[in-house]
Amino acid sequence: MNLFDMAKVPMAAAEKAMKLDPGAAAIIAEPERVLEVHIPVRMDDGSLKVFTGYRAQHSTVLGPAKGGVRYHPSVNLDEVKTLSFWMTCKCAVAGLPYGGGKGGIICNPAEMSKGELERMTRGYIDRIAPCIGEKLDIPAPDMNTNGQVMAWMMDEYSKIKNQYEPGFITGKPLGMGGSEGRTAATGMGVVVAAFEAMYVNGIDPEKATVAVQGYGNVGSWTAKLFAKRGCKVVAVSDVKGAIYCEDGLDFEALDEYVAANKTVVGFPGTKEITNAELLALPVTILAPCAMELQLTGENADAVQATMIVEGANGPTTPEADAVFEQKGIFVVPDILANGGGVTVSYFEWVQNLYRYFWSEEEVVEKQTEMMKRAFKNVYEASKKYGVTMRVAAYIVALNAMAMPMKMRGIY
Ligand code: GLU
Repeated sequence: MNLFDMAKVPMAAAEKAMKLDPGAAAIIAEPERVLEVHIPVRMDDGSLKVFTGYRAQHSTVLGPAKGGVRYHPSVNLDEVKTLSFWMTCKCAVAGLPYGGGKGGIICNPAEMSKGELERMTRGYIDRIAPCIGEKLDIPAPDMNTNGQVMAWMMDEYSKIKNQYEPGFITGKPLGMGGSEGRTAATGMGVVVAAFEAMYVNGIDPEKATVAVQGYGNVGSWTAKLFAKRGCKVVAVSDVKGAIYCEDGLDFEALDEYVAANKTVVGFPGTKEITNAELLALPVTILAPCAMELQLTGENADAVQATMIVEGANGPTTPEADAVFEQKGIFVVPDILANGGGVTVSYFEWVQNLYRYFWSEEEVVEKQTEMMKRAFKNVYEASKKYGVTMRVAAYIVALNAMAMPMKMRGIY
């Protein structure tokens, strides 16, 4: 089964539970538009390399397509299509006036110079420019892309359009159209969702222990914000390995260590464990915040967490989901739990359109309110239909899309 087919398994369960019109289901089963581009880049050694990139626009039913651009050697069309589908559902669950999109370039940024990355980034925008725009498709950061990459993209697109175009992209640095709170936003949303989940399950956050897989933008902020709100974060990991500390990690010291050593592994006072051991820790909350397909039919049985809160996109396979349901593990699905990033992207876009900026307190307050509302909608749907939180999240998303599709006459 490819990733896109796998991603559609819980959606099919939602369609059945809510008796969705088969026409609507058939439309949502495929992206509206997919673009493949080839980008010639002059490398620092004088050679020419042609990179392959994609942009998938899964849906524009509820608004312009919205979603990040990923730089990774494993990027492929199936993955980009799937990620764009998840963006559609995520934006609908969060109640945003957006559809879903996603882009990616097959490359290894760790092996590229800053100049090579800039030329590739600008080349990508040149190629996809006809299909993007503030009312059409709005890119953002994803794995291995950041504020600097967004700044190059914004600059290139503004040159092409011959006008200042901050609203065509989000995740920009502060001071050039970026929003307060955007960098921490996905982690912040994961923690808000987790606290709502603890509340409905009668768990005291002061007694909660947490393990976070991944220490990139999403994982590091998730871990730090859990700790800030009084939970004990006992384990984190990155591509090089995982670390464990029974008394809880000191994040100020860990961030200094990571800045100097480029990994969490070896952080003094911690025990090195494997990624598999991290996933199997007897914690209150397991937060996978790395890649897709981390919790599978192979390792799901070993999971001992009370709750799983998905910071990553698609970390759990349908086989693992079935095991968690049977074991009674409460799963807060990706399209709900990690919607905080795109929610603050939405705020950034609104601020760009108005040319009027908000304080960090305002952003955090509005984000928290939207995340809590989204959680409530999904939780209530799970009770009403007697389904898991994941299937309920798809019900909420499909519900939001079904009426506009019908009224607009898309089928
Ligand atoms: N890449 C992020 C995600 O997967 C953010 C997308 C956005 O802000 O548009 O949700």
